[in-house]
Amino acid sequence: MPAYKTVKINPALPNRPRASVLVIYTGGTLGMVFEKGNLVPFDFEQILDKLPEIKRLDFEITFTSLEEIMDSSNMRPEVWAEIANLIQRNYAFYDSFVILHGTDTMAYTASALSFMLQNLHKPVILTGAQLPIGVARTDARENIITALEIAAAQTDGQPLVPEVCIYFQNYLLRGNRAKKKESSQFNAFRSENYPALAEVGVTIEYNRPYIASYRTDAPFGVQAQLDANVAILKLFPGMTQNVVRSVLSISGLRGVVLETFGAGNAPTLPWFLHELKEATERGIIILNVSQCDGGRVMQGRYQTSSWFDKIGVVSGGDITTEAAITKMMWILGQETDHNLIRQRLSQPLAGEMSL
Ligand code: ASP
Repeated sequence: MPAYKTVKINPALPNRPRASVLVIYTGGTLGMVFEKGNLVPFDFEQILDKLPEIKRLDFEITFTSLEEIMDSSNMRPEVWAEIANLIQRNYAFYDSFVILHGTDTMAYTASALSFMLQNLHKPVILTGAQLPIGVARTDARENIITALEIAAAQTDGQPLVPEVCIYFQNYLLRGNRAKKKESSQFNAFRSENYPALAEVGVTIEYNRPYIASYRTDAPFGVQAQLDANVAILKLFPGMTQNVVRSVLSISGLRGVVLETFGAGNAPTLPWFLHELKEATERGIIILNVSQCDGGRVMQGRYQTSSWFDKIGVVSGGDITTEAAITKMMWILGQETDHNLIRQRLSQPLAGEMSL
């Protein structure tokens, strides 16, 4: 097990802190500072110099970081497991968790964690920034401070947001509903198919009917086993049989997220039908997800999707591709029975889809 350095800050002293939050730094633009003209990850032990505003919060904050600080393009299942296990080991000691993460794959990490962290009843808030913390106009400051406020928010001693979320530029989104939509504007994330869980202005307005309810009837646990023998196949007009066949014949492949057109439609060309049918007969699980960000797959609505049901392609409803691929990895990590895998894929496991 890696040795994690930690820094604890208790600005509430001498008063009792109203909550305790563990911040896990994983990397990304947010944590970069200029050193000799280059951007390098900052040493989080200097957090108070970079973010003096933290001293005005009235709860206890502990910072720790992964051993490998990374650009989130290098994120992978082993690191998701490391984060999930870190949360599990600290679960009893903190009221909530904030994960500082690069924006590029934040929606994948949030989705993966939403499946791995079972019966979660504490907030896990991911945030990041478009500009490094060392830059004058950085968005990091507001994002971190508000993510901390949301993580510490309680009502009657219970957390207000007991789920995995992304906080970014004034919006708190359900993590497995969010997508990175912007690479230059500050408002980087959207959730087209699920309302924001909170909107932040002068006050933080929580959208309570849409926030997962606080339940402690089952104990928290981590299931971090994933199977990455999966692929995403995005359809486009003119796609050749060679491409489809090559993907579907990858050795060891167990599942494919098929990014289809509109409400879940695909070509009715005989070779296409044949390749997909043959793949499902070989036991490859296919999940139908729309290329559109808003709306949902409605298998059977058009003739161009009606044959999917017949060959056992699972409808992903209104799931995002990020949630679909991580859900597939997670279910394949737990199950081997094909019917059970299809059944679990078609049901919401962590609020990632609406039926
Ligand atoms: N490439 C960076 C990352 O995802 C971008 C960012 O943090 O915004 O790690």
